Amino acid sequence: MTEVLKVDPLYPELDKIKKAANVIKAGGTVVFPTETVYGLGANALDPEAVKKIFIAKNRPMDNPLIVHISNIDQLYEVAKDIPKKIINLVNIVWPGPLTFVLKKTEKVPKETTGGLETVAVRMPAHPVALALINESGVPIAAPSANLATKPSPTRVEHVIDDIYGKVDVILDSGETFFGVESTVINVTVDPPVLLRPGPFSVEELERLFGKVVVPEQAKGTAEFDVALAPGMKYKHYAPTKRLLVVENRSVLRGVINELQKRSCRIALLCASEVCKQFRGEKIEIIELGSENNLYEISRNLFDSFRKLDKSNVDIGVIHSISEKGIGLAIMNRTRKASGFSSIYNIEDVWKYVGNKTQ
Ligand code: AMP
Ligand code: MG
Repeated sequence: MTEVLKVDPLYPELDKIKKAANVIKAGGTVVFPTETVYGLGANALDPEAVKKIFIAKNRPMDNPLIVHISNIDQLYEVAKDIPKKIINLVNIVWPGPLTFVLKKTEKVPKETTGGLETVAVRMPAHPVALALINESGVPIAAPSANLATKPSPTRVEHVIDDIYGKVDVILDSGETFFGVESTVINVTVDPPVLLRPGPFSVEELERLFGKVVVPEQAKGTAEFDVALAPGMKYKHYAPTKRLLVVENRSVLRGVINELQKRSCRIALLCASEVCKQFRGEKIEIIELGSENNLYEISRNLFDSFRKLDKSNVDIGVIHSISEKGIGLAIMNRTRKASGFSSIYNIEDVWKYVGNKTQ
């Protein structure tokens, strides 16, 4: 049985938080909102509790989890040999959507880190997440609360669609704020390496660190190899339907014409400014928000992938946006969701779509 509790996102009701915290303390699982996406949490220091996360999500056991903390003492509980620079930095950047990969302590079971000697740690900024960790009194391991391979949940309906009945409690606080998962940076090496772009931007990281290595893979233009970031070998964020990413805006119209000639029913996932050009046509429009506010697009992105799956079309087409700020995270998730189906010329369509004829 899953209990769903509505919790005010800014002023969480203590009685409900306590109820959920008791479940964590007893080794159970709680879905809770963070400022990025919904997380599926359990006591990070209890291997049996952590195993329940993997089972509920159907997640491969070697895909490591992020450990969420609510105070700096817990950082020392889970991580050791922390570089001095990071100790100074966490007071500036936390709470917030930035995850550090550090060396793990003995206290953290291998189940939490997917067998690695490192641990990913972050202090989330969402009031409900902070209150839950506080009341539980333990660090909470939590990946996104979706079924493995599905887009991360940014609304409680997504959580319910994926894992209702598989967790003990779901805390419903409405839409999450950023809508894409946290930035992950490996600081066990110097200069640090960006493992996953997120709301905490590369521009901000560079201001803090001077130099940060940003591999091509962080853009989503290639896959990480196993050695660099274990969890990242798995396909993520993917709608079940075919999704094409038009990287070159000037061929968007041509790509759509080409697909329609072959009787493909299309959903166009587009910025409001682009949607305007296609209104009234025989094409389903899934609006992402304005290009002038990339946070609006990041908030709607995963919901748009789920809408694509539910819609009555054959194929989704999305166009690229600026990679500045949170834009890099948006493009990383988009390219991964498409299975790296990037289109630069009209002919590229046929690399990814079989020659569908009527
Ligand atoms: P999720 O919370 O589902 O978005 O997954 C967390 C992601 O964080 C994993 O898939 C990894 O990519 C990354 N991660 C967590 N722990 C580590 C670690 N120790 N080393 C490198 N990457 C990690
Ligand atoms: Mg995930």
